[in-house]
Amino acid sequence: MSPVRVAIAGSSGSIGTQTLEVVRAEAGRYEVVALGVGSSVEVLIQQALEFRPQVVAVADPSRRAEVAAALPFAEVVADFADLVQPADVVVNAVVGFAGLQVTVRTLRAGKRLALANKESLIAGAPVVQPLRSVPGAELVPVDSEHCAVHQCLRSSAFPDRELSRLVITASGGPFRGRTADDLAEVAVEQALAHPTWKMGPKITIDSSTLMNKGLEVIEAHELFGTPYDLIEVVVHPQSVVHSMAEFTDGSTIAQLSMPDMRLPIGYALAYPARIGTPFGRIDWSTLRRLDFEPPDTATFRCLPLAYAAGRLGSTAPAWLSAANEVAVDAFLQGRIRWHQIAEVNEATLERYEPSADSTVDDIVAADARARVVAQEVLPR
Ligand code: MG
Repeated sequence: MSPVRVAIAGSSGSIGTQTLEVVRAEAGRYEVVALGVGSSVEVLIQQALEFRPQVVAVADPSRRAEVAAALPFAEVVADFADLVQPADVVVNAVVGFAGLQVTVRTLRAGKRLALANKESLIAGAPVVQPLRSVPGAELVPVDSEHCAVHQCLRSSAFPDRELSRLVITASGGPFRGRTADDLAEVAVEQALAHPTWKMGPKITIDSSTLMNKGLEVIEAHELFGTPYDLIEVVVHPQSVVHSMAEFTDGSTIAQLSMPDMRLPIGYALAYPARIGTPFGRIDWSTLRRLDFEPPDTATFRCLPLAYAAGRLGSTAPAWLSAANEVAVDAFLQGRIRWHQIAEVNEATLERYEPSADSTVDDIVAADARARVVAQEVLPR
């Protein structure tokens, strides 16, 4: 069988580099045909010299000539959407709202989308959802929780009528068990120290505020069509149970593995088959306990905010996601305090202005408007 052709948008980041580890481990099964980065061209050049893609995308215009000189065998393009054409599967590991175009172009082309960019589905759902019915288009989540739900739902022949709730697990992040007062003076480095997962800075901060979990609740609703009332979040500090589905007969099916994103990446690349390389195998002689507790929504206010935005629907999740990008950016730059991330998100959502949502341009406009509002409510 000829190898499955893989494109990776955002290849220098955490998901991108781990995708290449999966490809390396599964020798002969995958071929990397396209890679794209923002401005991390040193990493891109190294990756391309190893994997010999046909196309590389570099968003930063000042670095393209350098890449073209180093990679004479590859076509160097500006637009990540140009990574789609040569691939069978596109891994969208772009960070933030910029990933929407890759999602749209991949589904429109009727291809498998391995989606790690959650904003494109959360913010872009009104335009992305209709594209899921393009013949051949298929969206497989690359997120440990949604990968888990995806697997759990396969245990029912009739998930539409037999699912009674989804239980999304949250590690609780570095500040689990702390009160709002404890957290008033948190430093950036503390928020970046995630106890179980090693990820990029934006998503690590989102984990510390539980906004990541909130965005994942919206993502679960969009991916699986589950009503918000039937999606619960439970804190599970070991990050071994990645999520669960409860069915009408009372059975709960869970997916367990040690935290390792290469498992969901491999799942999305190979589905409905499974890769042959085990990632995140459990050693039952050392795993002694699995703990669960309800989330503290009074301290971690981003979680209920996400439910509120999700229930508003349309461009409200886009507003929340955009506000959160602005707030996290300001926090990482030392301009606002950790607890003010939720305040900026809440104040922006309070000023939500419903608008058209049927085209990518509509979503881009809603995102831009939300960023302006978020900047206005940002504490000085
Ligand atoms: Mg996740």
